Amino acid sequence: MKDNATFRAEFRAAHIPRWYVGYAHLALTVALSVGLIVWSVLQLEAVTWAEWMTVPLAFVYANIAEYLGHRYVMHVPRRGLRSIYVRHSKQHHRFFTDQHMPFEHHQDYKVTLFPLLLVVFFFGVFGAPVWFALQWLFSDNVAWLFVLVAVAYFLNYELFHFAFHCRTDSWVMKIPGIKKVMALHQQHHRPELMSRYNFNITYPIGDWLFGTYHREPTTATEQNHD
Ligand SMILES: [Zn+2]
Ligand SMILES: [Zn+2]
Repeated sequence: MKDNATFRAEFRAAHIPRWYVGYAHLALTVALSVGLIVWSVLQLEAVTWAEWMTVPLAFVYANIAEYLGHRYVMHVPRRGLRSIYVRHSKQHHRFFTDQHMPFEHHQDYKVTLFPLLLVVFFFGVFGAPVWFALQWLFSDNVAWLFVLVAVAYFLNYELFHFAFHCRTDSWVMKIPGIKKVMALHQQHHRPELMSRYNFNITYPIGDWLFGTYHREPTTATEQNHD
């Protein structure tokens, strides 16, 4: 098997175009998500306590969706969704291993952040029918609260995952609690554990429920590239 430095060099040459700017990808991800969250908030009108229950329910739903998607689509090749498996298991997990977690360059963000077109596509294909169903079954408020939580959860996922692949001496790592959650993802990046444990990137609710939570006593090691 190729060593990590060789894999990274070959991957960058083959898959990351010169024009790609990681900072712009990150900024657009944040801007579009925040824009959609604000838009959803502006649609709310006289929300009842029963409608507010959408927030915790949608949160748990998003957590389980994150878990199942990561465990059964990103780590198992599925017909029609194979490119997602390749992107994640064959590229993200080879580029970043538990021994080589940090980005070396803003262009490396491309191996972690979701492509924006894919996000727009998934939100359109899976989000729009849910919006119409909730609006029809319950109310406009429930539909917009669902969109709000789904987008906020997605942004949370992207920012956590981004943070976990920052250098350990970055200011990001000083955010309280971030290293604890990061340690779980780092263990998930160990090649022999990646298909078995720690499929939640954010909060390990799915891992607790389905018995795949794995925490080792060791803390995240220093492993920056200079
Ligand atoms: Zn990762
Ligand atoms: Zn994974």
